[in-house]
Amino acid sequence: MAAPIRLRSTLALVTGGGSGIGRAICQRLSQEGASVAVVDLNLDSAKETLQSLSRGIPGQDHVALTADVSRADHVRALMEQIQSYFSSPPRVAVNNAGITKDDFLLRLSEKNFESVLNVNLKGPFLITQAVAQSIVASGKNGGSIINMGSIVGKVGNLGQANYAASKSGVEGLTKTAAKELAKFDIRCNTVLPGFIATPMTDKVPQKVMDKIVSLVPMGRLGQPEDIADVCAFLASDDSRYITGASIEVTGGLYL
Ligand code: NAP
Repeated sequence: MAAPIRLRSTLALVTGGGSGIGRAICQRLSQEGASVAVVDLNLDSAKETLQSLSRGIPGQDHVALTADVSRADHVRALMEQIQSYFSSPPRVAVNNAGITKDDFLLRLSEKNFESVLNVNLKGPFLITQAVAQSIVASGKNGGSIINMGSIVGKVGNLGQANYAASKSGVEGLTKTAAKELAKFDIRCNTVLPGFIATPMTDKVPQKVMDKIVSLVPMGRLGQPEDIADVCAFLASDDSRYITGASIEVTGGLYL
């Protein structure tokens, strides 16, 4: 079935757009008519995503950009590039870039704790703030910010103290942003994926993945498109009365 066209004339910024869930989100938003700024650490992978985007709507345009979302100077430069390319602020931002550096708590290094918090939590803070500032400065209210959490942020997971903390933090950040930004008609929501088949989960040993799948009531791993579809809904006006929410997309898994 053809995707609905709910995002015509909408500029969307997607971080971590060069891989896995982020790539599927870029594709889905572009199918809905959005122009997409594909942002990734790795410019080549962002460009690969760019090549795969829909261009069916007149005026629709996309760009691939590189930025490290954990660095304020990169985020500032990114916003300047987007403003000069599109002459308008993004109305949709998906904070999807994320990393894991797993280890058991008794051994987890300070460096690996900080780097995961910096990308997964400080990154969404910097982008949310910058996008909201640019919308407010434009004098025209309205926007949707979608942050990628994880079911692990709710329930914890062995070997992921840093990751779980970062993803719980994302929910708190999002709920607060929702309260502060509602007066500008900017909605903020968190998506909580369960286990999704991407390069991130490819790193998990097969034995562990088999165990996880056996715990999923729907009996399969999620696909990136399962998450992208929910992001398109949250980006669109169909979710106009939803803000501060956390939406689990887990196939029923609650570890
Ligand atoms: P992925 O395939 O590893 O993609 C993550 C992307 O983020 C990569 O393209 C990566 O670029 C980029 N990235 C990493 N650090 C960055 C930074 N500092 N600045 C900008 N971009 C950066 O992972 P995924 O599975 O699609 O995950 C996407 C999001 O979903 C993450 O937030 C993850 O925590 C969340 N999530 C995933 C699952 C799952 O089961 N897969 C479950 C729950 C939540 P490089 O490749 O160049 O490093």
